[in-house]
Amino acid sequence: MRTAPNGTSNESGAAALVARDVRLTYPNGVRALDGASISVAPGEFLAIIGPNGSGKSSFLRVLAGLQPADSGQVLLEGDAVSALEARERARRVALVPQTLDVLPGYSVEDFVLMGRYSHLSGWRLYTRHDYEVARECLKRVDAAEFSTRGMNEMSGGERQRALVARALAQEARTVLLDEPTSALDLSHQLLVYRLIHEMHRGAGRTIVVVTHDLNLASQFAQRLALMQRGRMVSEGAPADVLRREVLEKVYGSELAYGMFERTIAGGSRPWVLPWARPETSDT
Ligand code: ADP
Ligand code: MG
Repeated sequence: MRTAPNGTSNESGAAALVARDVRLTYPNGVRALDGASISVAPGEFLAIIGPNGSGKSSFLRVLAGLQPADSGQVLLEGDAVSALEARERARRVALVPQTLDVLPGYSVEDFVLMGRYSHLSGWRLYTRHDYEVARECLKRVDAAEFSTRGMNEMSGGERQRALVARALAQEARTVLLDEPTSALDLSHQLLVYRLIHEMHRGAGRTIVVVTHDLNLASQFAQRLALMQRGRMVSEGAPADVLRREVLEKVYGSELAYGMFERTIAGGSRPWVLPWARPETSDT
């Protein structure tokens, strides 16, 4: 990467999000990030995949400015994310977390309204527009019917949709999603990916999704990054990353491969499934 005289690289000047050589060791001694780097163009849709414990969630929290790194650099639209004031940061980046540490006692609607925080000016309370946006976002994730229920009175999948609705309501230019479909049934997995697609294609937002749904990532994302032991080990178009030679080293050999002939992103894309292949074949 070339470096311009002012210390910022030419590449990062045009990127929505850049992370360079990010390192993070938790107080318990676990090295979660070990030189993780990524560059995401404005309006790009990137999916990060990788085994459990490879540092994906830690990386997203660092990218969102919620977890300081030990070393390395994260630039959001050219500015160090750690230096941004909270409200300004929320206008630029939204994070859909993998889970909530504490389940709030208030209603789903109030939870989604909190996504509008960065749009409030000064001391003002939520406006009618904020309520309309929150209601619309709840409708889009198919959660309108339980909008008045408490966040602690829902199934995991319903709560996950409320998390996505809050990020939609935030209307940030970059949206980071941590396994947003892990608790969802098949139709709601597709619904959430269509919404992400709409944010990307329709609203031009920059998307980074962490997921184990390799086949949804393959169909929707423009680029895949494979993470292992705290850093990227492969990056490229879905067809370049979802290959036997690449995945076997990371996930082992019990995988079956095929092709979707047509996808919403255009063209054919690979699919991958876990396959408990019988030892001997009698056919
Ligand atoms: P992934 O999302 O890829 O599963 P994580 O980023 O959650 O991985 O975790 C990476 C590593 O850091 C794991 O070994 C995990 O046990 C550890 N880890 C995650 N969060 C914490 C934490 N808050 N404190 C200590 N260790 C953590
Ligand atoms: Mg995780």
